Amino acid sequence: MAFDFIQEQLTVRSQDGLYRKSTTVDGQQGRYLTVAGKTYLNFSSNDYLGLASAPALIEAWQKGAELFGVGSGGSYLVTGYNQAHAELTAQLKEWLGVEALVLFNSGYSANQAVIKLLLNKHDLLIQDKLNHASLMEAGALAECKMLRFRHNDTSHLASLLNKHKETEGNKLIISEGVFSMDGDTAPVQSLYRQAKDNNAWLMIDDAHGLGVSGQNGMGSVVEAGLKNSDLQIYMATFGKALGVGGAFVAGSQDLIEYLTNFSKPYIYTTGLPPAMAYTIAQAAKMAESEQWRRDKLHSLIKTFRQSAIEKGIQLGESATAIQPIITGDSQQTLNLAQKLKTAGFWTTAIRPPTVPVNSARLRITLTTNHEIEDVTMLIEAISRVIHEQ
Ligand SMILES: *Cc1c(COP(=O)(O)O)cnc(C)c1O
Repeated sequence: MAFDFIQEQLTVRSQDGLYRKSTTVDGQQGRYLTVAGKTYLNFSSNDYLGLASAPALIEAWQKGAELFGVGSGGSYLVTGYNQAHAELTAQLKEWLGVEALVLFNSGYSANQAVIKLLLNKHDLLIQDKLNHASLMEAGALAECKMLRFRHNDTSHLASLLNKHKETEGNKLIISEGVFSMDGDTAPVQSLYRQAKDNNAWLMIDDAHGLGVSGQNGMGSVVEAGLKNSDLQIYMATFGKALGVGGAFVAGSQDLIEYLTNFSKPYIYTTGLPPAMAYTIAQAAKMAESEQWRRDKLHSLIKTFRQSAIEKGIQLGESATAIQPIITGDSQQTLNLAQKLKTAGFWTTAIRPPTVPVNSARLRITLTTNHEIEDVTMLIEAISRVIHEQ
């Protein structure tokens, strides 16, 4: 039978407790999430600064639609690049202190574009083992050689670089700034030094750092004491802390002109709706200037960790809004999430292949929308459920 792997693979997924389905969420989400008419405390979103349903941004989107309509009407190099996109680009350059920057419709396509365009046959791509699937997939499809270093292990990176020091081609090192499933942060300083010493370029994917880490939310590189412009490539998305959607790649003027001229995911796609670009610009302004959002988030993180430790709940190394509780077993993690759901808490069971085998986890995310009592209630519930098992 043609394509019979489809049925087979689905059956295996199901038997392994790894089958996935989208959940239909009702209405807006923030502190709470409503599914099938039932409301939960939402500990599962990447809306770290609580902007996705912020009234000021809903208003911005409405105003953007009045000013520019709802669609861009074309690709960026035809008529799809509006004044709203130009203003957003200029504003981001100023906020983040980068020379040049290009917008993408998603972080996924931005990563595909960079890796596909920059790395050719004789080049070397070296990635942290826990980098996002968009980076891994692009690397696997690219013509270059791809190596992976152990998570956040810069001595392993050094040994790989040393082993390939005769490589004639270009070298690109890529790490996330804040790791999406573990919440720990990359050793950016050390990566920077190694890249420099080995004549390699360094790219940081800061999808989970922008808006949350660093002075004025300038991200993980600034948090680490460097400037975003110290890197050859700084990439981040607007769908996480900025609460909207879309992404950008920043770098030198030449790099950005090159991406604009040659990148198919940039050229052959309809531009982001200008009303959306307008909304992202407002979101970026709020992320930059509303320090209270970061302060509140950090006090929630502190409460979460303190209360968990008091209850003997094992946590990871994370000091960020992403706080995994690693149980290892997929089915056990699903049961945990299910019991918490019954108790009114929405958390996510993250299972392989999103995370390595035997590292299934409950991924808990905190956001500025939470209150201290939400966090202490969650910890109480987790403690109760874990001890029942
Ligand atoms: C979410 C994410 C992406 C993809 O960004 P989208 O805009 O959602 O497509 C890329 N990299 C990392 C690290 C991410 O967490």
